[in-house]
Amino acid sequence: MTGTFRSIGIVGAGQMGAGIAMVCGHGGVEAHVIDVSEERIARARASVEAHFARHVAKGMMTAQAAAAARGRVTFGLDVAALGDKPFVIEAASEDEKVKRAIYGSLAGKLAPEAILASNTSSISITRLASASDRPDRVIGVHFMNPAPRMQLVELIRGIATSQATFDAARAFVVSLGKTTTVSEDFPAFIVNRILIPMINEAVYALYEGVASITAIDTSMRLGANHPMGPLELADFIGLDTCLSVIKVLHDGMADTKYRPCPLLVKYVEAGWLGRKTGRGFYDYRGPEPVPTR
Ligand code: NAD
Repeated sequence: MTGTFRSIGIVGAGQMGAGIAMVCGHGGVEAHVIDVSEERIARARASVEAHFARHVAKGMMTAQAAAAARGRVTFGLDVAALGDKPFVIEAASEDEKVKRAIYGSLAGKLAPEAILASNTSSISITRLASASDRPDRVIGVHFMNPAPRMQLVELIRGIATSQATFDAARAFVVSLGKTTTVSEDFPAFIVNRILIPMINEAVYALYEGVASITAIDTSMRLGANHPMGPLELADFIGLDTCLSVIKVLHDGMADTKYRPCPLLVKYVEAGWLGRKTGRGFYDYRGPEPVPTR
């Protein structure tokens, strides 16, 4: 599969930025990923290396194809490197202030015709677009985690998104082998509108002493046939991201059914953000994950 854009930019070298870059590498598309943190870039580079090495080790790619795919993914700190990209995906932290600042700072630095896509899990595309210099060329392109493995990409139009932007974004995503769904610009779109309240409810079940971490996860794995329990999944997503999404739902829907569980807030305040920091509902620092409560 080959992308319709040959070379794109990605803002944010976190788990999603790195994952989308891997998808591009597989799809014959060059992806230049920028971040503000050298440390995050180093981690992203290592995860891209490990991803393609695993594909070779498992016999899914030849060493030569993997080297070519890996070579398509590059990293840097300089926004100027995005100046010639026709398509830029913003995959920075799920924080509206951070994203608005990025959209403001990209103004005038991207090619005039470039499309600016956001990988946000929950934030209004219309609001983000209003912080950019090109609201008609801003669109939500929401890859799932892990991007190389998950088939779905949600597409979200802001109020100003043009049909040409939508068509180009959809063609690009489809050319990468993904399946799209279209969501209206409502808080958390489709998947997270349903998934994150379930995770928040699982944290409430823990908080209220209904059951232990292990019992909650085992119940949902074996009782609802979910591949991961909700607390494992929360650690995988990142507890800061889960909290941001439930807050966006709470604020955006003005409905108390979305109130963030205080225990989720406490984990985030502790910096126990899940796998990415080594500890969340489970402690990942030893050979096996161990529940933290
Ligand atoms: P993350 O915390 O792993 O990474 C965020 C990255 O953004 C960090 O490397 C950080 O240094 C970088 N960043 C912050 N400010 C920046 C700036 N001004 N310029 C450049 N980079 C900056 O987060 P993530 O899980 O990769 O999530 C990124 C986005 O993707 C969020 O909008 C999130 O909601 C969305 N998303 C996350 C998941 C998930 O499961 N984690 C799934 C789908 C979508």
